[in-house]
Amino acid sequence: MIPPIASNFVAGETPAEAVEHAESLNARGVAAILNLLGEHYEQRPPADEDAAAYEALVRDIAKSGVDACISVKPSQIGLDVGEDVFAENLADIVEVADDHGVFTWVDMEDHETTDATLDAYEDLTTEYGGGVGVCIQANLKRTEEDLERLAALPGKVRLVKGAYDEPSSIAYTRKERVNEAYRDYLEFMFREFEGGVAVGSHDPEMIAYARDLHDEYGTDYEVQMLMGVRDDAQFDLAADDVDVYQYVPYGGRWFSYFYRRAMERKENLLFALRAVLGR
Ligand code: FAD
Repeated sequence: MIPPIASNFVAGETPAEAVEHAESLNARGVAAILNLLGEHYEQRPPADEDAAAYEALVRDIAKSGVDACISVKPSQIGLDVGEDVFAENLADIVEVADDHGVFTWVDMEDHETTDATLDAYEDLTTEYGGGVGVCIQANLKRTEEDLERLAALPGKVRLVKGAYDEPSSIAYTRKERVNEAYRDYLEFMFREFEGGVAVGSHDPEMIAYARDLHDEYGTDYEVQMLMGVRDDAQFDLAADDVDVYQYVPYGGRWFSYFYRRAMERKENLLFALRAVLGR
């Protein structure tokens, strides 16, 4: 069982708990992006197992009627084993998801995975005419070019600032420069994208800018935030008619994810400590 200290950031260990959390979000106007925790498998069996778990999850989502999609990490379904393993598992997941009317997101990992991730995404979003989305990172210098490529495809793109420490030869490393790139790319996406834009950020400035861009260009967009991070803002935006998705991690491998969340901000750590102390 997940201790209360972690349950602010992780929905539970089972798919049933994840779906239940999604139902509670739906009741407050927020949709869910369910993510089974797991990454960097070096052998094929666990990668295949997690791919099968996603297929079962998609069936659960469809059966429950909950407003939820899924988000998959490439290294969780075999990218470290081989590009072909990843592409095969992703294709299987997307096929089942598409059959059940469930949208599939592909998370983006470090820069060594970008080409393989975008190639697999391009194949699938072209084959299915959308129904798939990919994450792209504003800190990578190559993103400007990648966005030109993505603009020509169906499907949705989630813009994030980037969670991986990348070398300065290929990435912006100063926070201000990443923010500047995020704004530029957001503007490009609202201007050029037809499939819809996903703003994957907790940053009130970026969300306000996205709302201005929506007013200017009329492009559909959604805001995506993590479970346990600015939850009240998520509900407030939804009440204000913005499409909001909460990224909801679940599964047995919750500890390292929780640890990252708790350590990344003083507020999260204090929240966790208060939960331990019961006040
Ligand atoms: P930051 O630049 O960290 O902060 C800006 C402002 O946002 C802060 O000043 C504060 O006002 C507010 N804020 C931020 N965090 C908090 C908090 N904990 N509590 C209160 N206020 C806060 N990265 C990847 O590399 N690949 C992915 O696939 C990926 N998927 C993601 C999916 C989602 C839905 C989200 C939300 C993020 C994802 N990320 C991913 C992580 C992303 O790259 C950033 O590392 C992360 O979102 C932090 O950047 P930020 O824009 O939210 O805000």
